[in-house]
Amino acid sequence: MAYKNFTVETDADGFALITWDMPEKSMNVIDLSVMDELDAVIDQVAGDDGIKGAVITSGKSAFSGGADLTMLEGLLKDFHVKRGDDPEEAAKMLFEGSRKLTLVYRKLETCGKPFVAAVNSTCMGGGTELALACHARVVDEDLKMGLPEVKVGLFPGAGGTQRVMRMADGQQGMQFLLQGRTLRAPNAKQMKLVNEVTTTKKLVASAKKMLAAGLDPVKEWDKKGYKLPNGKVYSPAGFQFWPAANAIYRRETFDNYPGARYLLHSVVEGLQLPMDLALQVESRYFAKVLQTPEAANMIRSLFVSMQELNKGARRPEDQRPNKIKKIGVLGAGFMGAGIAYVTAQAGIEVVLIDRDQEAADKGKAHSEELMGKAIKRGRATEEQKEKLLSKITATVDYDQLAECDLVIEAVFEDREIKKTVTEQAEAAMKSRAIYASNTSTLPITSLAQASKRPKNFIGIHFFSPVDKMMLVEVIMGKKTSDRALAMALDYIKAIKKTPIVVNDSRGFYTSRVVMTYIREGLMMLADGVPAAMIENAGKMAGMPVGPLSLGDEVALDLAWKIVSATRKDLGVKYVEGPLDNILEEMVVKQERFGRKNAKGFYDYKGKDKSLWPGIPDVVGQPKPAESFNIEELKQRLLVMQALETARIFEEKCLTDVREADVGSILGFGFAPYTGGTLSYIDMMGTTAFVDLCKKFTKKWGPRFKPNKLLRDMAKENERFYGKFAPKAEAAQKDAA
Ligand code: NAD
Repeated sequence: MAYKNFTVETDADGFALITWDMPEKSMNVIDLSVMDELDAVIDQVAGDDGIKGAVITSGKSAFSGGADLTMLEGLLKDFHVKRGDDPEEAAKMLFEGSRKLTLVYRKLETCGKPFVAAVNSTCMGGGTELALACHARVVDEDLKMGLPEVKVGLFPGAGGTQRVMRMADGQQGMQFLLQGRTLRAPNAKQMKLVNEVTTTKKLVASAKKMLAAGLDPVKEWDKKGYKLPNGKVYSPAGFQFWPAANAIYRRETFDNYPGARYLLHSVVEGLQLPMDLALQVESRYFAKVLQTPEAANMIRSLFVSMQELNKGARRPEDQRPNKIKKIGVLGAGFMGAGIAYVTAQAGIEVVLIDRDQEAADKGKAHSEELMGKAIKRGRATEEQKEKLLSKITATVDYDQLAECDLVIEAVFEDREIKKTVTEQAEAAMKSRAIYASNTSTLPITSLAQASKRPKNFIGIHFFSPVDKMMLVEVIMGKKTSDRALAMALDYIKAIKKTPIVVNDSRGFYTSRVVMTYIREGLMMLADGVPAAMIENAGKMAGMPVGPLSLGDEVALDLAWKIVSATRKDLGVKYVEGPLDNILEEMVVKQERFGRKNAKGFYDYKGKDKSLWPGIPDVVGQPKPAESFNIEELKQRLLVMQALETARIFEEKCLTDVREADVGSILGFGFAPYTGGTLSYIDMMGTTAFVDLCKKFTKKWGPRFKPNKLLRDMAKENERFYGKFAPKAEAAQKDAA
């Protein structure tokens, strides 16, 4: 039989080799055609007496990236359309549609012939679930195996929850499922999720050897008398384990993620049932989680929108692609060193410049250190390290910028210094080369005044630590050309990060919103909220850290500098508040700058930190915690950030709802379960959001006053994703 995505070749021993190799795709993913064809392949293997067993492998450099979630998005859209007319039928359609893959995998597992998965390199989500459904797994040393579904608001719903918990140690299994972590080959083997590790070349031969040795086509859990490896749920051991698992779930998620909640339900209930029923329970919870706004928002922002932005949704279409060979980095400090590393890692040559050779060398040493760590963890080789380091030239010589396509400036946040290096660099650069500043707060248009070629001047704002943070904020100055934008986006694509493009303004998008989060924390301190309660409210609302802690990380002296500069720039228009006093007292009088001098709202001792007992001396004695409503504090922290985003959107600094949402989650960790700052407003409904803002304005001050755009939208109860639907969505709507 001929398939589009698979080939099946049977050897003389009667072992079928099923090679999954999707045409016109760099990675195998599970879509409707793969599901249908896999179903037919299983029938073929099961029905052919000449086939004794099968090996499933990939024809690509990795096994599979998992399911194509746009498939689920489509299913959900159909569900919502149908629900209006016939809710029961709609629910049935969603349940059956979303468990199709479960049934295909179960058929594979029970078809009577043994299957071995021969897994090379990346194996994610539905790909991992396919491997787990097979009767054995042999993997290569490059394995990266994961079930990252919780990260997009879901859980592994094609048998993953049931099979992992019947194969692995309970604690390790739950952690693997709940954290969505990636396993390397040795861990996966230790967890009993794989049987054998070998080289990529020997994968298929090893898999066939397993078949030849007489691999049992019936799984243990499908045999009579099967006993769960970690004991029954209702047993003395279960009573020790499950309440603790529930507590850990709540500690990690604050019950904000329905995906994680239903995952736990699915595991606990499923483990008490035979496999077919357990899978049915899993499917019911999966269909349930799909219907939650959290899952819909997370799939949209963290899968669909992110993919669109990565593929160049904001790239000007008429610009030719740039092949970037060499870039310059000015300033080899904290950020410059990180930028040099991620660039060299992408195979691009880097000229790394600082004031003196020692500083430039120190910047390059950062790459050596990171590669050293990667080697220790088995993620890189000496050879790769040498190759990467050979790409970076540390120097003080600006003439070396002559061949660079792009130069990124990351010197001190000081206008004068930035002006000097801009002039120095431009004198050496090709006239067509693009110049970017990594400033965190200074408007790009004003920095571009130092440039002879403001069309070629753009903002490329990285986040720290550069090697870990996935977002890059691109800032268009007033005169920035589309050619400069295309270069910035091509560069960001080459270093495999996600871009958002914003128009110029003080603090751009991310820094501006982050400052409102920190400010709200300080305002709460001034209101008498106990510091620990503020921090907990932040984390319970879904932020990665509390606002005071973030203030310490960003540096209080920097916040003070920004406040002072804003005050100076705005003159009489600046409204002074308790924030100024707190920051002034902390920075100027107490010299508490944050983590950088180990003294801020927290005291730091190595990796440990504890709230500074002197906070009441600066802000006054706190009121009793009972005088505040924790739900309201959580809302204050999220509403303030969402409201600031709506203002930035109205000012047209942000122009694309996808960028607002993706930028907020990747840039400053805005509560991911909401789908991002604007999705948060949509989820609440603009009318309810505006009402809440009005209530907070009365109670907490005019900073909560809703802007005109929001008030207008509230009147019509419009949504951001309705009114400002991105092009792709609008096109889909038109087609519908
Ligand atoms: P840093 O102090 O660690 O590094 C600045 C480097 O610039 C130093 O190595 C310094 O020697 C060098 N330098 C100063 N004057 C120079 C000159 N005339 N020529 C060449 N090199 C010179 O600072 P950083 O944290 O890396 O910040 C750099 C820039 O990145 C700033 O504009 C900052 O606002 C921005 N930024 C910082 C962060 C962050 O988290 N630190 C995040 C985003 C953006």
